[in-house]
Amino acid sequence: MATFTCITCPRGCLLEVDPEKKTVAGNLCPRGETYGLAEACHPVRVLTSTVAVRAADGAPYPEMLPVRTQTAIPKGLLSQAMDEIRAITVTLPVEMGEVIKENIAGSAVALIASRSLG
Ligand code: SF4
Repeated sequence: MATFTCITCPRGCLLEVDPEKKTVAGNLCPRGETYGLAEACHPVRVLTSTVAVRAADGAPYPEMLPVRTQTAIPKGLLSQAMDEIRAITVTLPVEMGEVIKENIAGSAVALIASRSLG
């Protein structure tokens, strides 16, 4: 049995999930059941972070570029994804939504720029 707070709406129901029996208790609506089972069986997160930047002439740039995964990725891949993000340096200019790295951590999800820079 696992316990989660449902974050799907502000009511914040306390869910008790049995991943083996695939049952959820404590939810006030069906969305809580969907959330609870997903969180217990296949937890995913959208990862947000920043990457290093260099100017077009190759000089160091004083800002970091905010990035995020295009969609949620399995929670178990977050650490590997962060290792890959720390190794990235992008060259300006960058447009919001531009793919910074395909298939981050083998997730089949792209890492994209959260805003334009440069
Ligand atoms: S179970 Fe339904 S009512 Fe409760 S927090 Fe989740 S979405 Fe909101």
